[in-house]
Amino acid sequence: MDHPGRQQRLQAALAENKLDWLLVTHLPNIRYLSGFTGSAGALLMGEQRATFFTDGRYITQARAEVSGARIVIARKAPVLAAIELLAASRSRTPQRLGLEPHSVTVGQRDQLAAILPRKWRFVSAPTLIERARMVKDKEEIRRIRAAIQLGAGLFQIARKKIRPGVKEVEVAAAMEYEARQAGAEGMSFSTIIAAGKRSAVVHGRASGARIPRRGFVVCDFGVILAGYCSDRTRTVHVGRSTYGARQMYQAVLEAQQAAIAQVRPEVTAADVDAAARKVLRKHRLARFFSHSTGHGLGLEIHEAPRLAAGQTQELEPGMVITIEPGAYIPGKQGVRIEDVVVVTSTGCEVLTPTDKELIIV
Ligand code: ZN
Ligand code: ZN
Repeated sequence: MDHPGRQQRLQAALAENKLDWLLVTHLPNIRYLSGFTGSAGALLMGEQRATFFTDGRYITQARAEVSGARIVIARKAPVLAAIELLAASRSRTPQRLGLEPHSVTVGQRDQLAAILPRKWRFVSAPTLIERARMVKDKEEIRRIRAAIQLGAGLFQIARKKIRPGVKEVEVAAAMEYEARQAGAEGMSFSTIIAAGKRSAVVHGRASGARIPRRGFVVCDFGVILAGYCSDRTRTVHVGRSTYGARQMYQAVLEAQQAAIAQVRPEVTAADVDAAARKVLRKHRLARFFSHSTGHGLGLEIHEAPRLAAGQTQELEPGMVITIEPGAYIPGKQGVRIEDVVVVTSTGCEVLTPTDKELIIV
């Protein structure tokens, strides 16, 4: 990974954003910029230099992983150590120091303010790193592909395991066991196995409920491999399906394909969302589609951009996003179909293996 290059691009953006320093505290951002994968650290970015702070537990790991930044092993919280180092420089010119607003707590900010030199100011930094992370480089796309490939195998496990009377958690457990065996670092979120009436629960984490004789089972799952996430949803049907169930499945599939067809550079995230919604409206299911059409993914399972109404972000080649419309009729049934796609110069490539016909188990 080109950590020094990423740091240089961020450093160039600091002045444009009237920042003398940026204190990076969100761990995936630290990993993106420096390579550090531990759980305690702070990266202080100045126009000319980068300094990484961690604690004694990570001496060996930091030396092995961090590139492009000086490493300081602190005896106190890494964020405090970072601000103390700056304060000790006794620079006379007032400095503007950016904090990542979504990652610093009010308590931390108060603590840091107490040691900040007079006339220096904390400012809420724009999401410069999140914006850079939206467009993936070749190595990142390679890793996401590998994670998706591993995830594809897990769906085969789910297909075999899903039978009437089996508990949802038993299906999830079999998938998660296989994931670790196959080399995954973990799941990218709690595996969703939602059967029968529970298929209408959008985030139906696998529960102790038993799979009924008939009905949909929504399987939404992902793995983390070499730091990068996969995410995929397939909905299967247990037992004989009704005409209504098949219609609903086809409508969601049509919406998903319409959204994928819309993906290309310069189209906005809202346009892709609208394409899925338009199809569901035609099938009188729009009011049952209660979430956004998709999200970016990479080091985190949910990243920018968000594919929803009002999102003016234009798509660019190299963005990796999910397309996952669904319809959920409370107390009855739900369907979701999700793939990961990478935006190319002319459209997109679907990274998820494509079989999406309704599977009856
Ligand atoms: Zn998902
Ligand atoms: Zn998703």
